[in-house]
Amino acid sequence: MSLLIRNATVLTVDAADRVIEGGAVYVENGRIAAVGPSAGVEAAHAAGAGRVIDGRGKVVLPGFVSTHNHVGYTFFRGRAEDMGLGCVTGQYFPMATVASREERLAVGSLTYAELLKSGVTTTLEMEEEADVFAPFVESLGVRSFMGVMTFDVDVDAMAKDEYRYDEALREAQLRQAVDFAERWHGRADGRIRVMMTPNMTISSSPELLRASRETADRMGLRTSIHLGWGEYEVEVMQRLRGRSSFEYARDSGMLAADTVCAHCYVVADPDVDVLAASKAAVAHCPLMNAVRGHIAPVVEYRSRGIPVSLGIDNMFADHFEVLRACVTMARIKTGSATVMQCPEVLRLATMGGAEALGMGAEIGSIEPGKRADLQMLDYRRFGLTPTLDPVQNLVYHAHSKDVELVMVDGNVLVEDFELKTADARALIDDAGAAADAAWGRFVAKYGGIVAR
Ligand SMILES: [Zn+2]
Repeated sequence: MSLLIRNATVLTVDAADRVIEGGAVYVENGRIAAVGPSAGVEAAHAAGAGRVIDGRGKVVLPGFVSTHNHVGYTFFRGRAEDMGLGCVTGQYFPMATVASREERLAVGSLTYAELLKSGVTTTLEMEEEADVFAPFVESLGVRSFMGVMTFDVDVDAMAKDEYRYDEALREAQLRQAVDFAERWHGRADGRIRVMMTPNMTISSSPELLRASRETADRMGLRTSIHLGWGEYEVEVMQRLRGRSSFEYARDSGMLAADTVCAHCYVVADPDVDVLAASKAAVAHCPLMNAVRGHIAPVVEYRSRGIPVSLGIDNMFADHFEVLRACVTMARIKTGSATVMQCPEVLRLATMGGAEALGMGAEIGSIEPGKRADLQMLDYRRFGLTPTLDPVQNLVYHAHSKDVELVMVDGNVLVEDFELKTADARALIDDAGAAADAAWGRFVAKYGGIVAR
């Protein structure tokens, strides 16, 4: 199967950040076979192309790689945004004790589809029972790193600020994570890669973190964990372990070059040293972090050589808002109106994610030989004219609604602004019903929308 997009503006995100006006991309057998000025690519490939798409007024760029997601946390959309970090112990963990796997699947499937429609071709999804999403990921056609977000803390005690760790729970959680890896790692034509993803330091005993690392190394899996997400985390770690969250994660063997550390906005100087020495990547989630009142020092991370990628985290569905927040938050943090220029943001959203996931040679840019994970936006729409600089228009003015076509491995999954591999209306209705049912049981168990 082969496909040619011609006469488009192509944002390659190659080493030179080449932007090709009047460009073409030729895709064959799931990979990018050629990219360049349209005339040359057409002369070589138009005759043999199974399909030709006219790209006039369109902009083609690599699919976004979102390195931090909890798709099922759309349960909390419209409920946790104004709650501050009290939602972590008051809603997120308690919901895991009442939501059914079917409800989680319904809500998370909607979010996977929303992200795909927003140009996100690869997600790093970590969540309690993330394994439930694997068949949907396979049928939707996206690429996803996936981890069961393990914990061995007594959840109901933690909601009361008491910390007890349970060996039986730990064993059960690790078994679920390993079973998931054995069943799904490398499946869906290699699009699913399972990871070991302990939730966070306060919910993990040293034994859980060490076992997660040993399992990851033994099975060849990558890792991820939340780090530096709150003052409360810092306080609890000092109380329980007498050191910072970063030091505890390092000392328990969690941090390595295969680790994606989510958030990293509450950091002391020694923590930045720990991060830099570990070679781990940061999943910067500027939109969600801003909602929580925080900004990660990503300009400093970049200057220290710490790999930075972007994540949407949860509840949000328009990944273009993440790019904008990456710019605005960096500027507020540094007091400079010119840091974090658009080409850099586009790179973090694409290649940055690819490299954080060890896939820099496979995805993240439009270059011959890479997998054809692409998106195409229609720029002949309100908000995008004039197009004096397609990259600035992308970062400052584009939205999910402008994404006309998305492909993964050369398979077209969104076309004419519509999902091709799932029924959008059914996903919306099922997710709404599932969230209503789960919240009904949550309120019955905890006496309100916050567990205390
Ligand atoms: Zn998270």
